[in-house]
Amino acid sequence: MATAYPTGALARPDLHLDAPVPYSVTDAGARALAAPRVKPGYRLVPARVGRPGEQVTVHVECPTDWCIADHVAEPVGAAEDINHQGTPAVLNLASDQTVSVPTAVYLSWWPGSHDVAAQPCLAVDVDREVAVYGRTGALAIADQIAAFAADVRRLAETLPGDELGPSEVAS
Ligand SMILES: [Zn+2]
Repeated sequence: MATAYPTGALARPDLHLDAPVPYSVTDAGARALAAPRVKPGYRLVPARVGRPGEQVTVHVECPTDWCIADHVAEPVGAAEDINHQGTPAVLNLASDQTVSVPTAVYLSWWPGSHDVAAQPCLAVDVDREVAVYGRTGALAIADQIAAFAADVRRLAETLPGDELGPSEVAS
C-alpha cells in the first residue's frame, strides 16, 4: 500500500485542502498549523472516489495497525462509502454444513456510517450476514465463542479414538 505522498502540496497553496501535507513535529508556523492532524494510530492514505470515469483521489485517515483495504485499488462511489477492514479470522466448517455461527470476524470502520460502524468495530460474519459490534458487544461475543469452543472441546474429548480411514493412512 502506498505510504509516500507527493510533496508538491507545499509549493502549491492553490491545491485542494485535501491534498496531503508532510507533517512533522519540527514544522513551525503556519505550515504546521495548516497540516492535517492525524490521530495517533492512523495515517493519511489516498482513496479513489467517484463514478467510473469521474474518480478523484482523496486522502482519508486509515487505521495503521489493522486496515488492509487498498482504498485506491478498490474505488467506492462516494467518500461516505469508504470502509476500513482488517484481516479476517476465519472459522472453516465443512462446506456441506449449514452454518449459523460466526465464520469470520474482522475489524471494520465505516466513517460514513450513522450507527456503531462509524467507529472502529468488530464485523461478525454469520452465513454471509455481517453484523457489527462495538467493544462491549464484541467482548460479549468473544466470551460466548470461548464458552462454545470449550463445549466443543469437552464433547470432542469424550469421543473414542479415530480409526484410520483410507485417507488418513500414513504413506
Ligand atoms: Zn483503511
